[in-house]
Amino acid sequence: MRIYNTLTRRKEEFVPITPGKVGIYVCGPTVYDFIHIGNARPMIVFDTLRRYLEHKGYEVNYVTNFTDVDDKIIKRAIDEGVEASVISENFIAECRKDMAALNVREATVHPQATKEIPDMIKLVQILKDKGHAYEKNGTVYFRTRSFKDYGKLSHKNIDDLESGHRAESHALKVSGEDEKEDPLDFVLWKPKKEGEPFWKSPWGDGRPGWHLECSCMSKKYIGGTLDIHAGGEDLIFPHHENEIAQSEAANGAEFARYWMHNAFLKINGDKMSKSLGNFFTVRDICKQYDPQVIRFFMLSAQYRTPLNFSKDLVEDAAKGLDRILNGAEKLAGIIAKDNRKPVSDKEKELLETELPKYTEKFDNAMDDDLNTADAISAIFEFVRFTNANTDENSSSDFAKMLYDTLFELSDTVLGIHLERKEEEIDSEFTAEIEKLIAERTAAKKEKNFALADEIRAKLLDMGIVIEDTREGVKWKKA
Ligand code: AMP
Ligand code: ZN
Repeated sequence: MRIYNTLTRRKEEFVPITPGKVGIYVCGPTVYDFIHIGNARPMIVFDTLRRYLEHKGYEVNYVTNFTDVDDKIIKRAIDEGVEASVISENFIAECRKDMAALNVREATVHPQATKEIPDMIKLVQILKDKGHAYEKNGTVYFRTRSFKDYGKLSHKNIDDLESGHRAESHALKVSGEDEKEDPLDFVLWKPKKEGEPFWKSPWGDGRPGWHLECSCMSKKYIGGTLDIHAGGEDLIFPHHENEIAQSEAANGAEFARYWMHNAFLKINGDKMSKSLGNFFTVRDICKQYDPQVIRFFMLSAQYRTPLNFSKDLVEDAAKGLDRILNGAEKLAGIIAKDNRKPVSDKEKELLETELPKYTEKFDNAMDDDLNTADAISAIFEFVRFTNANTDENSSSDFAKMLYDTLFELSDTVLGIHLERKEEEIDSEFTAEIEKLIAERTAAKKEKNFALADEIRAKLLDMGIVIEDTREGVKWKKA
């Protein structure tokens, strides 16, 4: 598999540190509110990466954190007059519900910053002992110039950064700038303020800086060198650059070998942001659309391509998904007949010569830097193939083999279920429909076709379509 590595700006062949095993760390959300659909993009994309690596036979250790101590969480807690942990625990629970709805699998470990403070303090101590950090008035700073590779991920030059930073902090009068040795130094530990959560440390009561948690938790749950570190592209600088500086300065080993960054999700062509008010929470969107459609939509573009969220594009995704589900339904129908016919020579030949072409095409797309857009095209082609080569005379075993392949690619790897979610219709409504259908059947028996048509129209008004079949009248939602 080839992966585009932000570090080298090239697609590189993926080679794990330990054969057969992969350690992936993905920066997770800050839990001060419901997650928005932009946050869902890295969750879905890197969950799909994990699934694909497992499909290829790797054992994957997938770690993604919850940032549960942060200015925004504290602000909300103060506004609502509760402890910060009440806000963070609540939104972790809500985030887990959204992830489950989007079929994002549980990580191997979901560490939380507040539960790892002693290890973070140890890391700060190591950096201080090695001369990479210093303390001023209860704040510990990372001495950025002491790490010679600073800027290697974001491809920024440290002197350019310095002059930009000086101008900016001068204009904004950023607090704490005066006590730093260098404007580029960043916070590892900050002293407590009135009303904020805090922990004891050798530098006084306080809390960790944001970058520290990922350096600490990734090492604890995966190891000193990660195979893959991932997140949204906004995290490249300064978050990931600072994680590298902290980890490599402390461990004396490469922090992560492959860096993957997803492009942003936009809304109607604009940057989605809370301040512009043009964002949607996953919770709200899932009231409007099936979460499966949202997942399918996210995977309809390769992860490094900006993706635009619009009603039209989501509806296109819904139609595309429908084609796959119809194909699966047809195969399931043949399997359900259980006709026990032996697989014919023609079917055998299709399985041996044609089927592998589609799985190969799918794998090639995924091997090319997780090109889920092309992988979905391969599934569409496969569905056209299954539709064209099956009918009621096909053997159940043949249909089953096709179905299993479709299941592996769509459900297991892309996380798209092949079965439609049954819409819940309440029992009173169902009874009403069945009563009307019985009345219509009686009307037809009495040759009162006008009444029968009237009842059909009434059902349509209720959002129900009926179909006369040999097995009787069938109904479904319009
Ligand atoms: P945050 O809670 O802001 O730290 O974001 C959690 C994750 O969501 C990070 O990996 C961000 O890069 C990512 N993210 C935030 N907004 C978007 C967006 N509009 N499109 C794609 N990814 C995003
Ligand atoms: Zn991080």
